[in-house]
Parts: sequence; C-alpha cells; structure tokens
Amino acid sequence: MHDWQARAGIDVAALAAFLGRALGVEASPVSGGAGMRPDGAGGALGACRVADVKRPFWRQRGEAPRDGGVALYDGHELLRLALAVAGPGASPRGALHVMVTDLLVGTYDDADARYHARPVVASNPSLLSTASAVWGPARSRRYYGEAMAARASGGDGAAVEAAHAAEHLVEGDARMAAAIRGYAMQAAMYALTGEAFCDDASCCLHDAHWQSGVLSAVASGQLCAAHGAAIGGLT
Ligand SMILES: [Zn+2]
Repeated sequence: MHDWQARAGIDVAALAAFLGRALGVEASPVSGGAGMRPDGAGGALGACRVADVKRPFWRQRGEAPRDGGVALYDGHELLRLALAVAGPGASPRGALHVMVTDLLVGTYDDADARYHARPVVASNPSLLSTASAVWGPARSRRYYGEAMAARASGGDGAAVEAAHAAEHLVEGDARMAAAIRGYAMQAAMYALTGEAFCDDASCCLHDAHWQSGVLSAVASGQLCAAHGAAIGGLT
C-alpha cells in the first residue's frame, strides 16, 4: 500500500491494516518518502497528464495540456509509472501493490469516446483516487439542475453546494476513508478473482456510477452474501 497523496488525506497504514483483516492477507504500508510519489519521479508525472479528454492517450502522447483545465492523469500511464517507482516487487506475479493518490485519475472509454474519472483502476499495481471518488461518480440530477440554475441566474451557488453536501463526497470528506476502503476491496478482489465489481447495489464491490451508490454501497463496508462467502472461502 503506497501513499501517493500530496496532501494528508487517507491514512494508508490504517487502510492496509483494514485490508489485511478483511481478506486475511498480509498488507503493509510502503514508506519511501516523496521519492516514492509520482511527483518525485523526475518529472515523469507530467507525461501522464491528459491533454484532451476526447482522444485516447496514444493519440495525444507528448501534447501539452491546455492551461486552466483541471489536471487529469491517465490511469494506465500512472500504473506504468507505479511499476517503475515500486520496483521489481510490483511485478504482476508478486504482491499486489496499491497506490493511494489524490490526483484526478481517468481512463479513456471507447464506448463514448471520452475520458471518465475512475476512483479505482484495478490491475497490479492498482490505483485508488480520492479526487476521482469526488468527481467520477455523478451527483444527483436535482443537484445539477439547481447548480445550473444558480449559475444561469447569478444565484447563490454556495447555498446549493451546502444544501446537497450530504448527498455526495466532497474534498476532505469525513466519509472518504470508508469509500476508499470499498474501492480497495474492489482492487483486491480483482487481484484475487479477476472480477472487481458486483451487481448487487448494496455490496461494497458495487461499481457505483452515482454518488448515492458510493455512499450507500462502496462506503458501507458491507459485502453481499455471495461475496461474503467468497471472501470467507479465501481466508
Ligand atoms: Zn457482492
């Protein structure tokens, strides 16, 4: 479990301890200081940044991102960097390495020809992103409607944010640790079984596309009966 956060956020040692307990495996935080973070990898991080959210990475490699946009990083490029940073121990046949980052991480989806923010990119290494947990899953339709109306009329956007704050994760949210535990379970399940997600809308392995699902399922700490039994069989 690697701490790739630029700011204090997720307690990576506590997250590793949780995963070890939940799965009956050995899990430990990797300390290595700033050099272990992608921003300490000799400028390699900038090369992972997405310049255009409507083209796959291979068609925009090396292009400079437009100024002013939110910095989005390609999940697969970051994983390549993670392999380099984590070293030979991060080989797919070795232990599962999980990078916890506060960078906004996305992957390109051919289905609608654009990038989407992903709170978890399950592979080995795997990435968990707190920023993507905030900005990836959609907020309620009512929130978007009210926020748009406030913008259009010059109304009070802060009041809209405050009114809906309980419905979705925000930066620094107290519920983030629980959500990241669910995403860590998804990454671990992918490593153990080849399948990260669950169709059951109450299971913490559920692939929630809405913030309501992140809070009710991913952050719930609950497994469905089938996954509870599957993990019981593993441990
Ligand atoms: Zn399940």
